[in-house]
Amino acid sequence: MPARLLLLEDDPAIARTVAYALEREGLVVTHSLLVHDARQQMRQQPFDLLVLDVGLPDGSGLDLLRELRGAPATATLPVLVLSAHGEEIDRVLGLELGADDYLAKPFSPRELGARVKALLRRASAHTAATATTAPAPLFHDDEAGQRISLRGQPLALTRREYRLLACLLRGAGRIHSRDALLAAAWGDDSESTDRTVDTHVKTLRAKLREADAGREYITTHRGMGYCLEL
Ligand code: CA
Repeated sequence: MPARLLLLEDDPAIARTVAYALEREGLVVTHSLLVHDARQQMRQQPFDLLVLDVGLPDGSGLDLLRELRGAPATATLPVLVLSAHGEEIDRVLGLELGADDYLAKPFSPRELGARVKALLRRASAHTAATATTAPAPLFHDDEAGQRISLRGQPLALTRREYRLLACLLRGAGRIHSRDALLAAAWGDDSESTDRTVDTHVKTLRAKLREADAGREYITTHRGMGYCLEL
């Protein structure tokens, strides 16, 4: 999807040049002449970036910037400030108020295009980084397929190990007696004993350790049973 950019600029000649340059870069540009109109546009649709003039007929672009930074929905919206006169005070204020970049007039449309693209790249890299650090479920039990994944990696489990781990997982944090685990994984198989459970827990532990850098998930509670700790 092309990036949507809102351009707030009251000089029609500058606005035309800027819009033309940015559209050539593949952006969808919405143009506002007034702060009032820009506010309305932002209420109607989300934008990926704002290019903001400072001196506007109905107010200051810097006041709008302050307003945007104070609202959760626009607190991180990338903003590039265009100064009215290339004044140092605009640059300092703009950056202090949280502008992401600054360009003094007169500027070349090509320079603006490059800055805008850099800001969009930075924003999407940030979004991607945030997305990949979202907590993934530690264990995933695919009951239909009788498979369990740990950190997204399927574990190579025997049928008994699967049932044992599924039982421990459903009651994670609780202690399961050997009898309860026997019933869950072996059913009525009278050949099996507490020792059978211990042997399978041992191989299961080894597989979990191997899958997750030596981490111990199953704890032994002497005389009581086993517990899966997450
Ligand atoms: Ca202006």
